[in-house]
This record gives sequence, structure tokens and C-alpha cells, in this order.
Amino acid sequence: VVKYSKVSKTYGELEVLKEIDLDIAPGEKLAVIGPSGSGKTTLGRMLMTLEEPSSGTIEVDGELLWHQRVQDRLVRADERHLHRIRGKVGMVFQHFNLFPHMNVLRNVTEAPCKVLGLSKEEARERAESMLEKVGLLDKLDVYPSKLSGGQKQRVAIARALVMRPQVMVFDEVTSALDPELVGEVLEVIREIADEGNMAMMLITHEMDFAREIADRVIFGADGAIVEQGPPEAIFEDPQSERLQSFLKRFR
Ligand code: ATP
Repeated sequence: VVKYSKVSKTYGELEVLKEIDLDIAPGEKLAVIGPSGSGKTTLGRMLMTLEEPSSGTIEVDGELLWHQRVQDRLVRADERHLHRIRGKVGMVFQHFNLFPHMNVLRNVTEAPCKVLGLSKEEARERAESMLEKVGLLDKLDVYPSKLSGGQKQRVAIARALVMRPQVMVFDEVTSALDPELVGEVLEVIREIADEGNMAMMLITHEMDFAREIADRVIFGADGAIVEQGPPEAIFEDPQSERLQSFLKRFR
């Protein structure tokens, strides 16, 4: 469902990602691990069209982000094209990014109304079923400032799910949480993963969780994918010295 081809990203002199090739199959759960600054967040943000690659292409569901193909040539995509493909990707951020001036229900119904053009009733129905899934149906009228970090993050997950994306990026969604709130958020992600049909890119420092959820783990360092494979291979039989010394820190 996702295909990165020779994707590079530079910020000025800094080469954050170097010619990354990466495919994510429909429904596949991919965990992305690696040291701080290795470009994991950038990889996810590009899929969400929040960053543009410096070179290379990214396809979602067979369609190009940023570009369109016209008679075999790549040309810049127009807004309509981008808008349509963007809807296939959802993202949950480290710092929740809820709309502070909207209650929980509106946080979740806003995009389905504005972007998908659903009626208020349809959006509400969908939103309520997502909020039920994350265990927050009793908080519809509450504003984000009154919620715990774990609750905010669960609203953010419902807000992304309500768009029914084909792939969801979870970017270190538990790293800003108090330790006792991490479990409730991981539990929600685990349930979503078990439903199966949506692909996930799980950028995480929670190695145990990555191991449990992922079909495949990629380890990135210095802008490249250093090693990848099924969780058992990555965590129990790491080949490269980089990965071996990275994993030691979590023991
Ligand atoms: P972490 O685990 O700490 O979140 P990461 O692997 O997700 O790290 P990125 O956030 O993708 O890494 O950042 C990769 C590098 O790119 C870092 O050195 C960061 O400082 C740099 N960087 C990210 N965004 C920008 C930007 N908008 N302008 C300049 N440099 C940036």
C-alpha cells in the first residue's frame, strides 16, 4: 500500500535520509526503530505529506504523493490530487496536537465533515463508534485541557481512525506520557492492530511493544535502513554491530 523509492531528505547540509527504498504491504504492521536523529519521524511525516522528499518518490495505494504521472513524465501534483491521497494516510503524533478550542466530539468530527463532506449526523455516528473503541464515549463534551495525556492520545487516535485511512503512522505516541499512562494507549493500538486490515508504521522506542505488534521491524541509522526482518530475527539475532549496540541500551 506504500512504496518509497530512492527517497532522500536533506535539511541544508544535513542529509537525514539517503535513498530509502521501503514497501509496506496492505495490512502490514511495520515497526521503525533507531537512534534519535536517524530520520524516523521524517520518514513518517513525508508519508503524511507534512514534509516533501528532496528526491525520490512515495506512492500510496498506487498513486504518487507530491507528483502525478502525465504521459510517463513526473509532474507536480495539483491540490486536488494531493488532497485525495492524503485521506488514505492517518497520523498520531508524540504531542497529541488536538484542537484545544474544540471538545472531544468536535475534534473527531471536524475532518470527516470538512474533508470527507459527511453530514453532521454521519460524522457524529462514526466519531462515536471510534471514541467507543478507544474507551472515551463518556468524554464527548470535554475539552482537551481537562483530559490526561493518555486520554488525549486516545482522542488523537480516534480522530485519525475516523478517516478510515489505509495506513496509519504512530510517531512515538507514548514518549510524552507519564509511565502509568503508557499502557492504556498501547492497549488501544494493540486492539487496532488486531483488527488487521489497516497498515501501520509504528515509530517507537518501546522495543517490547514493537516485538509484540510488528510483522516486520526496520532499524534505521545514519539515514539508511541498516537491518530489517521479522521481530524475532531483529531482537534475538541482530546481525550488524550498530543494531547490537543499539539494543543493548534496552536490556
Ligand atoms: P527522534 O527519535 O529523536 O525523534 P528521529 O529519528 O525521529 O529522532 P527526525 O526527527 O526525523 O529523527 O530528525 C532527523 C534529523 O533531522 C535530526 O537531526 C533533526 O534535527 C533534523 N531535522 C528534522 N526536522 C528538521 C527541520 N525542519 N529543519 C532542520 N532539521 C530538521
